[in-house]
Amino acid sequence: PKSHATRVALVTGAASGIGKAIATRLAAEGACVVIADLDLEKAEAAAAELGGTDVAIGVQANVTSEAEIQAGIEAALLQFGGLDLVVNNAGLSISKPLLETTEKDWDLQHDVMAKGSFLVSKAAARVLIEQEMGGDIIYISSKNSVFAGPNNIAYSATKADQAHQVRLLAAELGEYGVKVNGINPDGVVRGSGIFAGGWGAKRAAVYGVPEEELGAYYAQRTLLKREVLPENVANAVAVLTGSDLTHTTGLHIPVDAGVAAA
Ligand code: NAD
Repeated sequence: PKSHATRVALVTGAASGIGKAIATRLAAEGACVVIADLDLEKAEAAAAELGGTDVAIGVQANVTSEAEIQAGIEAALLQFGGLDLVVNNAGLSISKPLLETTEKDWDLQHDVMAKGSFLVSKAAARVLIEQEMGGDIIYISSKNSVFAGPNNIAYSATKADQAHQVRLLAAELGEYGVKVNGINPDGVVRGSGIFAGGWGAKRAAVYGVPEEELGAYYAQRTLLKREVLPENVANAVAVLTGSDLTHTTGLHIPVDAGVAAA
């Protein structure tokens, strides 16, 4: 498939964790990357780590704001001359039992992940269709989009929403050569702002393990007995958007080291 001589990627929530690992991997493959995040300073710092404005730029973009997303996409066009690949990664996680989950929790979770990724995909698709060069849209959904666990309704429901956006957009954008695929990570403790910011403590309490042992706890319950790192998710993005997997769309790849059947 066609693409710009240097691929141009926009990754949301890329100032931290999985998104930062994805931006790093794509830059290592020669792509120019727009790091879009809530916090401009953190986004610019992450971009600087990748080697400066010839390779990566940081932009402030709250994915719940159509105007800020549009500005991020225009920054990609202006700085790097096009857009080939967009990753819906921005997210947060409110971990509460059903009876404690408020309407505000529900709305925030859905605003950022369901509406936010819809808005980002829509703005990106407009450019990808106009360019007539195909492209890729990736959703960082979650194992929780498929499997149900306790104390997680708002987060998991919105991840399931994202998973269906993948199928719907794969169907709608296929004729333009735009592939849309998802990744379902699980248990990425190390480097994750979500885990560090309270989610880890809550999950550790649910599983009855000390928070500092949570990564090892997740690892021992996987089939491969391996801890999942942000880089492992980034590798899946590289494969799904790379030159080998040109005929795959609407797929979700688990990056969870294997989930036991029971
Ligand atoms: P993280 O907190 O390190 O990264 C999330 C990033 O999203 C942060 O930089 C944050 O500032 C940004 N963000 C939050 N709200 C935003 C908004 N409204 N607009 C723009 N940016 C926003 O956490 P992470 O673990 O790296 O999570 C990244 C994605 O991976 C999330 O969508 C998360 O749900 C998903 N995920 C993570 C895991 C895991 O085990 N860590 C598992 C499954 C899915």
